[in-house]
Amino acid sequence: MEPENTESQEIILEGIAASPGICIGKAYIVDNDGIDIIQRYHISESKVQAEKNRFNTAIKHAKSELIEIIEKTPKDLKEHANILETHVVLLNDKMLYGQTIEAIEKDLINSEWALRKVVNRLRKMFRELPDEYFKDRVNDIIHVSNRINRNLGGGEPVNFKNINKRVILVASDLSPAETSQIQLEKIMGFVTDLGGKTSHTGIIARTLEIPAVLGLQNVTRLIQNDDLLIVDGSGGTVVIQPDETTLRRYVQRRVDYEVRRAQMIRSSHSTAMTLDGTTFKVMGNIELPEEVVSVKDKGGDGIGLYRTEFQYMNRAAFPGESELYEKYKDVLDVISPQPVTIRTLDINGDKAVSFDSDYDEPNPALGLRAIRYCLKKPNVFMTQLRAILRVAAHGNVRILIPMISGYEEIMETKRLIEKAASDLESEGVPHKGDIKLGVMIEVPSAVIIADILAEEVDFFSIGTNDLIQYSMAIDRGNSLVAGFFNPLHPAVIRMISHVADVARKKNIGIYMCGEMASEPMYIPLLIGLGIKEFSMNPQSIPLVKRMVRSLNTSECVGFIDEVMVQKSALKILELIKSRYGKLLSDYEL
Ligand code: PEP
Ligand code: MG
Repeated sequence: MEPENTESQEIILEGIAASPGICIGKAYIVDNDGIDIIQRYHISESKVQAEKNRFNTAIKHAKSELIEIIEKTPKDLKEHANILETHVVLLNDKMLYGQTIEAIEKDLINSEWALRKVVNRLRKMFRELPDEYFKDRVNDIIHVSNRINRNLGGGEPVNFKNINKRVILVASDLSPAETSQIQLEKIMGFVTDLGGKTSHTGIIARTLEIPAVLGLQNVTRLIQNDDLLIVDGSGGTVVIQPDETTLRRYVQRRVDYEVRRAQMIRSSHSTAMTLDGTTFKVMGNIELPEEVVSVKDKGGDGIGLYRTEFQYMNRAAFPGESELYEKYKDVLDVISPQPVTIRTLDINGDKAVSFDSDYDEPNPALGLRAIRYCLKKPNVFMTQLRAILRVAAHGNVRILIPMISGYEEIMETKRLIEKAASDLESEGVPHKGDIKLGVMIEVPSAVIIADILAEEVDFFSIGTNDLIQYSMAIDRGNSLVAGFFNPLHPAVIRMISHVADVARKKNIGIYMCGEMASEPMYIPLLIGLGIKEFSMNPQSIPLVKRMVRSLNTSECVGFIDEVMVQKSALKILELIKSRYGKLLSDYEL
């Protein structure tokens, strides 16, 4: 973004609002970018072994450094130590390590050059991936390769110990190793050139509840050490050297923000009951087991979607049954007696696993994804099902099957669940066989045969992220068509209405775990349509709970009659605003 210059010296920049909140303080520039210039030279064949040894020594040192950082990671950041463990794995990864060794041997070049070549290739490959989350994962490779480079003699690691006052960190990017060394009492906020909402800095900032504006492109060139900064992580704005009026305005905004947030979080631990007495469960979606803590802190009524595929990524092989069992148990232990809904593997599509990419699919979103993959790989599926049934013996666990598109898939899944249960039974392993089973409704064919599926399962969970993608032909990761992705499209509303009606008639559970559920504006509509529970990113729980409390179920139901006759998303939006606009204006944090 081009900076906007005002009359005074202040500069206003717009970036990605990655973590909400406002902070005002002095800038501290993190200079972690000093390894851009690397040495390039050819080696003779007789020097190949010595060069490989040099590279291996650098890897060894990088590994010890990382292990030391993991051990010293402060308690409240322990949950991110697993990112660093991923980096330890990456150090010996077939792509990064193997291909660098190969380049040294084949191209007869020094380690730094070989590593740079491999990283550039991987960088290109990752950047072409459609999913933002995976695009951001290229940063892991870059951080790891920077660390190896430093150990090859290319620079000093960043040391945060020198920071002796409260500051706002300004960096090109921050690696997980760097962010996990941060002492919370000294860091007020993050400002970076790179990164986005799903980058590690974004994730860590949200977990620590530190305001962050990321992806500002060239902010490190505009800010000097000790410049006064305002970071508005809710609006995505950074003000450098603000003038008096701006400063006063933001000081007031910060006070208002803190007051609203404190009120909201305080009330989020009680149940979400409408004015006319209907209770709605507001649960959290998690990707990693550690995130369960933030669901609990935000007053979540359980886990409505545990995206288990993330445990299969960034590693060299499939996880085993005991590892999965332990991870699921960790989540259950924290949130019990509230439910944990474990969604079985939803890999491929935009979430391919590196060690099992022997399929070359021209159209991965329409390919061997989720339950289709699991039914084709019964061993992988069985390992997961066994782990789930075992953990179900300890509490309220339900299974959720992604991307069901037909009757046979659910029948085959049920057969495998029964088989897992009978195997565990004959092995004498404690488990729960009669576990609650649900399907994600995220493919249009599942909507149309909802009545058939309802006979076979205990609940439906509507996944609007994919349902919109598949029904409206909009690639959810393609920014060119992102503007068409609209949950208020009458087709989407009608599908939700149909599924909710079927669930009611067949007397099974119905909730929504797609992003649509995290938007307060949609809650009156969803309640009116008959959705009984919601699940969302943990940060949205307090807001949604508050919205539920200010509504009347019967009024929402009546409102649907007006919605159903509208011809376009825009008309529906106008209707929501005219009816609930006043309420919604109270929700802007
Ligand atoms: C969805 O599709 O709406 C959903 C919740 O699943 P995911 O985003 O993991 O595909
Ligand atoms: Mg989905």
